Amino acid sequence: MKYYNYDIVFQEIPDEVTLAVNITNCPNRCQGCHSPHLWEDTGIPLTEAEIDRLMARYGTQITCFCFMGGDGQMAELERLAAHLRQHYRVKTAWYSGQYDFPKRLELFDFVKTGPYLRERGGLKSPGTNQHLYRIEGADRKIIMRFA
Ligand code: SF4
Repeated sequence: MKYYNYDIVFQEIPDEVTLAVNITNCPNRCQGCHSPHLWEDTGIPLTEAEIDRLMARYGTQITCFCFMGGDGQMAELERLAAHLRQHYRVKTAWYSGQYDFPKRLELFDFVKTGPYLRERGGLKSPGTNQHLYRIEGADRKIIMRFA
C-alpha cells in the first residue's frame, strides 16, 4: 500500500481533526473522479514505520487518522489500522469507494462507503449514494451520521 500525500482536515470526519492520507492504486475508476492521480500504483509505502513517523510528527495535533482509499488492499489496511489501535489513542477512519464494510469493523470508528457517482454528488449532496457511519460501543454498533 502506498500514499500520494496527506493533509490535516476538519470537515471529512465530524468533530475530529483528521490526518487524511490519500492512498494510491485505487481500483474503483469512478466516472468524474476528482483525483485520477490516485489510480496509479505510485507513492510512498504506507507501513507501520511510516505511520509511526506521521504520528510522531502530527500525533499531538490530530484526533483521527483517516485512510482515504485502500479498496482492494483490505488486509493491509486492516493491519495498519490495528497498528494504530494498538499504539495510539487516535480514532481511525476509512473512506472507501465501495459499499462493503471492513470485516474487522472493530478497527474503525468511522467508515464512509460508496463510490463517487457524478449524477448523485458527493457525501453532502442530498441525493448522494455515499454514507458516513460512526461505529460505536462495545458491540461496535453502526450509527449513521449522514443520510
Ligand atoms: S474512489 Fe475516489 S479516487 Fe477512487 S476512482 Fe472513485 S473518486 Fe477517484
